Amino acid sequence: MKIICIGRNYSEHARELNNAVPAEPVFFMKPDSALILNNQPFFLPDFSNEIHYEAEIVIKINRLGKNIDKKFAHRYYEEIGIGIDFTARDLQRKQAEAGKPWEIAKAFDGSAPLGKFIKRDKLPDYNAISFRLEKNGAIVQKGNTRDMIFSFEEIIAYVSKFLTLKIGDLIYTGTPAGVGPVKTGDRLEAFIEDMPMLSFTVK
Ligand code: ZN
Repeated sequence: MKIICIGRNYSEHARELNNAVPAEPVFFMKPDSALILNNQPFFLPDFSNEIHYEAEIVIKINRLGKNIDKKFAHRYYEEIGIGIDFTARDLQRKQAEAGKPWEIAKAFDGSAPLGKFIKRDKLPDYNAISFRLEKNGAIVQKGNTRDMIFSFEEIIAYVSKFLTLKIGDLIYTGTPAGVGPVKTGDRLEAFIEDMPMLSFTVK
């Protein structure tokens, strides 16, 4: 199983980090050791002083595919979830300035908490999924997938040009504006269409 994450897929978030809006999807990966399941706590790592949350809609790949045509891409997922792409922003900045890869800032253990999944047909409109993240009961991020620069289908088509997608692979589809830091004791709760899907504590 692999975890693919899309960067800069909401223009407001690209702007808040002073990044150009991309002409094609930007993706990176996390290993399976990044996953946190079952609302287990996230432990702040000691190598960063600036861990940021990024709430993202996650799709789960349900069939094997390579070079998937955009018009068939909707057949390659049917479950929708929500997760956090934890990012060591200080390390990411340092790596980017030095032109080095992002792994130490993005792929570390526990950097991918993942909530429950729901069949997309249970949602009012899976091309316009509303979601939000609350920190200690206050809304910090609010998004709707209709604002994505690249749709789920475009992402699947693009990524599968380079990587074979396999059953169970996860795609974190990018974060909307409002990313920010976490500290010990914070409680994060993520919702899809007002349904609680993920809830955990930062330790
Ligand atoms: Zn992200």
